[in-house]
Amino acid sequence: MLHIILFGPPGSGKGTQAERLIEKYNLFHISTGDLFRSEINQQTELGLRAKEFMDKGILVPDEITVGMLKNKVESSVDVKGFIYDGFPRTIPQAEALDKMLSSKNQSISALLALHVDDDEIVRRILNRGKNSGRSDDLDESIIRKRMDEYRLKTSTVYNYYDSKGKSIKIEGIGTIDEISNRINQNIEGLIC
Ligand code: ADP
Repeated sequence: MLHIILFGPPGSGKGTQAERLIEKYNLFHISTGDLFRSEINQQTELGLRAKEFMDKGILVPDEITVGMLKNKVESSVDVKGFIYDGFPRTIPQAEALDKMLSSKNQSISALLALHVDDDEIVRRILNRGKNSGRSDDLDESIIRKRMDEYRLKTSTVYNYYDSKGKSIKIEGIGTIDEISNRINQNIEGLIC
C-alpha cells in the first residue's frame, strides 16, 4: 500500500498536485487543512479550536491534529493508499504517523518535497486568496507567519524522513503538468 507525504511550504502546490495523484493512482487524499476547514464550516468544537490558530497563521497543536488524522485514516477502508497533504508538519506528528502505520504493518513509502522560493509563494497565495475564501490567504503578514512556522517547525520533517532514505526533492516551479510529470516519475519508481 502506498503512503505518500506531499511536502512543501504553504502555497507550494501540494493541493493541486494531490488532486491529480488521487485520480491517476487511485489514492485517498487526506489534507489536514481541508479537514480543519470542513470542521470550521460545520462549526464543530474541533473547528472552533483550530480556527483560533489558523487565523493567526500558526500551527494547530499536535494533539488536536493527530487525533483528527488518525480518525480519518482509520475510517478509510478499502483504499489503495494515501496521500498526506499538509501532514505531518512537526516531528511529533511524523512520529505519531509512523507509529500508527507500523501498528498496521505499514510504513511511509516516500516524502515528496516541492521546492518553491519565498517570493513565488507569497505571489501564489495572494492570488489564490482572491477566490479561495480563505481568511489566512489575504494578508501578507499572515502568509509570512505561515512561512516562518514552516521553517521553524515543519522543514525538519524533511530531514526526519531523509535519514530513513525516504525524502525526495521535486522542483516545484514550472507548469502544473511539468511538476506532475516529475512527481509521477518518482511514484512509478516506488511502484516498480
Ligand atoms: P497551506 O499549506 O497553504 O498553509 P493548509 O490548508 O495545509 O494550507 O493549512 C492551513 C492552516 O491549517 C495552517 O496554517 C495551520 O494553521 C493548519 N494546519 C494544517 N495542517 C496542519 C498540521 N498538520 N498541523 C498543525 N496545523 C495544521
